[in-house]
Amino acid sequence: MKYIVVTGGVISGVGKGTIASSIGLLLKTTGLKVTMIKIDPYMNVDAGTMAPAEHGECFVLADGGEVDLDLGNYERYLNVTLTSEHSITTGKIYDHVIKRERKGDYLGKTVQVIPHLTDAIQEWIQRVASVPVDETFEAPDVCVIELGGTVGDIENGPFVEALGQLKRRAGKCDYLHIHVSLIPIVQGEQKTKPTQQAIRTVRSAGLNPDLIACRCTDKLDTLTIGKVANYCQVNPDQVIAVADVASTYLVPVVLKSQGLIPSMSSILDLQSLDTPLERIERGARRWASWKTLTAPPNHPKAVTIALVGKYTRSLDAYMSLVKALQHATMAYKRKLDLVLVDASHLESPLASTSPSKTAEYESAWRKVCEAQGILVPGGFGARGSEGMIEAAKYARENKIPFLGICLGMQIAVIDFARNVCGLSGANSVELDPETLSPVIINMPELDYSKLGGTMRLGERLTHFQPSSGAWSKARAVYTSCNPQQTCDHNSDELVIRERHRHRYEVNPSYIETLARHGLEFVGKDETGERMEILELRDHPWFVGVQFHPEYQSKVLDPSKSIMGFVAASAGCLQ
Ligand code: GLN
Repeated sequence: MKYIVVTGGVISGVGKGTIASSIGLLLKTTGLKVTMIKIDPYMNVDAGTMAPAEHGECFVLADGGEVDLDLGNYERYLNVTLTSEHSITTGKIYDHVIKRERKGDYLGKTVQVIPHLTDAIQEWIQRVASVPVDETFEAPDVCVIELGGTVGDIENGPFVEALGQLKRRAGKCDYLHIHVSLIPIVQGEQKTKPTQQAIRTVRSAGLNPDLIACRCTDKLDTLTIGKVANYCQVNPDQVIAVADVASTYLVPVVLKSQGLIPSMSSILDLQSLDTPLERIERGARRWASWKTLTAPPNHPKAVTIALVGKYTRSLDAYMSLVKALQHATMAYKRKLDLVLVDASHLESPLASTSPSKTAEYESAWRKVCEAQGILVPGGFGARGSEGMIEAAKYARENKIPFLGICLGMQIAVIDFARNVCGLSGANSVELDPETLSPVIINMPELDYSKLGGTMRLGERLTHFQPSSGAWSKARAVYTSCNPQQTCDHNSDELVIRERHRHRYEVNPSYIETLARHGLEFVGKDETGERMEILELRDHPWFVGVQFHPEYQSKVLDPSKSIMGFVAASAGCLQ
């Protein structure tokens, strides 16, 4: 196993995740089998209980792992399927060591950070690195490990120590360290001092980077590269310049143009891996498709999508969804014009409220009315839910393409129950526990006594109902998909696999009423009891999905439901 460790310095959010994913992709394009591990130094066991507004979205893996959003990037860039073990946190590794201590595995010993915790980290990495993650079902050749935070933080100290020890375990030619740093521009001058200091910190922590990736808003001057090389005692060809580019999808292209593949190849002796020709050719095709798909189209037509959610301060809260919308628009050679609308601003203000609230209301509705498609994403809690219900009603009545994801599907059910079936007080018990018409209820089998890891999580099957065959647009888009990847074709039956993360579901006792009024559930789980996909017949595209299609979307294999929605919004569904 060859290990590539990616760490960061100077500031957080320097772009390590994109650089790590791009490195993984570049290696994959040479035909190698690549896997990735993310280390997050926080105490949470996983990302499931963290607020998206603060930490960005929680990504969900096929096995139900609730993990940091970076794992989503890895899966999207590399077309791999990772497991919850590919995400290591301080909480998870301490939990593992403490459980072993209780079992008596360290009997007689004083259990310490060094060597017990650092050994456990290395053993975890070595074990998980060899788990097959792609269509070959074989152990990977290379494992890229990204360490969260910046080197020098108290939290990631044990991981830095463990990664230093891993270098000795891995041996010569099997370990490469890239440190990502920042070159700020102050009054027009590219400043190298923060990078010099960051490298000093890394070295005093016992690591010695082979390559230094310098992030900068502008192209790096040769002088700056020379200065970094001189002061950090490396050769200029060990300094990789990563200037800002129009899209993160272009970062692999930038890295390749800097000669990163030959650099990595010589440090890691990648030639010795003897990759079969067939895989080298497949890698080359992957690179060609990546370049074609991500090349900015000439004068693309825009498609305007209103995302009506509650976390509108940062797009990171909807990272996978934004990426999935980009994948779909890239596939159609369109430009995504994404408009974030705070759902609570769509709620009708009281007559007594301030003029600024009225202005917010008008501006939010203007955005919704101008959009070609309306998307209500997943979410939790009541804030903004009435605004989301209004948005779903508007899309339904005005025949604007609509996609409701998870909470968004539940919202569409509430609108329909209230405004078409005449159940005026209909609601979800999550949003109003006292509702008289609980159209969305708790899933009975879940454990409601704790919040971590207790939702219905991960990949599950959805069976398209035979009656949907003749008319369902959602079914039609899935029928065109690659059978190996998401569909099981079995005579007339169409079964798809998508990832889930929810605690509530459509109340089975209302299905008959909803269907009688025209809201049909075209997809259900294997028991036929749990509603997975809803759709309206006489509408250009009104679809709600209980799953999160965005988690499976890839640059080279966009999500079918999101492609259907984007196509309907762009007027090209046919
Ligand atoms: N809050 C809803 C539920 O738990 C929807 C969850 C989601 O959108 N991920 O069922």
